[in-house]
Amino acid sequence: MASKYETVIGLEVHVQLTTDTKIFCGCSKVFGQEPNTQTCPVCLGLPGALPVLNEKVVEFAIKTGLATNCAIAPRSIFARKNYFYPDLPKGYQISQFELPICEHGWLDILTENEAEKRIGITRIHMEEDAGKLVHGETQESSRTSFVDLNRACTPLLESVSEPDMRSADEAIAYLKKLHQIVVYLGVCDGNLEEGSFRCDANVSIRPWGQKELGTRAELKNINSFRFIKQAIEYEIERQADLLDSGSQVVQETRLFDSQTGTSRSMRSKEEAHDYRYFPDPDLVPLVIDKAWIAEIREGLPELPEAKRLRFESEMGLSAYDAEILAADQALAAFFEACVPLTGDAKLCANWVMGEISRQLNEGNIAITDAPVSPTRLAGLLNRIKDNTISGKIAKNVFEKMWQSGQEADAIIEAEGLKQVTDSSAIEALIEEVIAANPGQAAEYRAGKEKLMGFFVGQVMKASKGKANPGMVNQILKDKLSG
Ligand SMILES: [Zn+2]
Repeated sequence: MASKYETVIGLEVHVQLTTDTKIFCGCSKVFGQEPNTQTCPVCLGLPGALPVLNEKVVEFAIKTGLATNCAIAPRSIFARKNYFYPDLPKGYQISQFELPICEHGWLDILTENEAEKRIGITRIHMEEDAGKLVHGETQESSRTSFVDLNRACTPLLESVSEPDMRSADEAIAYLKKLHQIVVYLGVCDGNLEEGSFRCDANVSIRPWGQKELGTRAELKNINSFRFIKQAIEYEIERQADLLDSGSQVVQETRLFDSQTGTSRSMRSKEEAHDYRYFPDPDLVPLVIDKAWIAEIREGLPELPEAKRLRFESEMGLSAYDAEILAADQALAAFFEACVPLTGDAKLCANWVMGEISRQLNEGNIAITDAPVSPTRLAGLLNRIKDNTISGKIAKNVFEKMWQSGQEADAIIEAEGLKQVTDSSAIEALIEEVIAANPGQAAEYRAGKEKLMGFFVGQVMKASKGKANPGMVNQILKDKLSG
């Protein structure tokens, strides 16, 4: 349905970093520990305790900035973002405001009609996470709240995009790309459910052709790509309904409810915080050496975009196949290990995206734990290539390899699955099939050539799938036209 309105979306993403320790102290940040055991005077916000910046956080910020085409600021500043909430012991969050570490970046995405589109990244800055409130989870009282500061001071990168996206699909494409990059870089584990990669979406609509932006709503903390898409689509409709009925969109923060697929107002602009940012006097300006940036750039892994292009140009994969394989570093590595062992990139791509991915999904297994290694898969694919087995039999063999961990050759041997390539054996089968179906044979000879499929099927069936399909086709043609 064509809408009267154009959608405008900007995204803010909080990326939790995989450093061993917190951003301003040496506390461990392992998930799921006893409350308040991963704390010290700094992250508890005790008076007199001073923050010391974790160098690894800066390195991860630079990596992410470089991988998203940002300029890295030679000098950046930490600022205090002031607000009161029980999970924030200092009464302020240390963040960056006026001089963030990364600015002016971009990512290219593929839009719905497969066109490439550039999405601007305004800034990426470093900040500390707050603690957590646990509500009424004891026997004493369901009305009591508890403060757990294990998460306080956990390092985050906040990445803010330009309002360049025009649909929920574009927003998801951008998010997935950013997600791939931080996971590729190893700076984030990418777990949306545990909150390692959190997204807020700013959504507004405006009549087509209007330059100025409409009033926006901010959608908060949605923890899966599917829900983000749902939340944005719901919001676009909600705002269109408001405008259509002559009402106004109110600037507000809304919470998405994944149970109902709707959202509700959390706070309006009037209730919004005035954060009274100012430079944090406890932390000196961060000055970054050019040589360090160059060194980090040097050490960056091949990123999904570059991998995708290489899979297309060097391996001859289609854009679609290349995109899917490059999206997952481990899947791409599996594929790349398989290719030189078979010399057939297309065949490897088909199997990795097909049978391998299917088994992984069904068993909810990581590819690094797959019972079939790249070498074993290549062993199987080579038996297709040298005509020992057909592609169809190969799927059965693969199933057994996955279950038993055995090599393809052992299974093919033990089960007598070797393809019949002996032309006299195939001829005998074909003669039987033709003799058993004289009517169809006459029809074929009278010009009903699509009956070829029927005959091939019958012969394959008679051979229990083991006859070489190419030979069956050829010999059938000869016999039927003879
Ligand atoms: Zn600490």
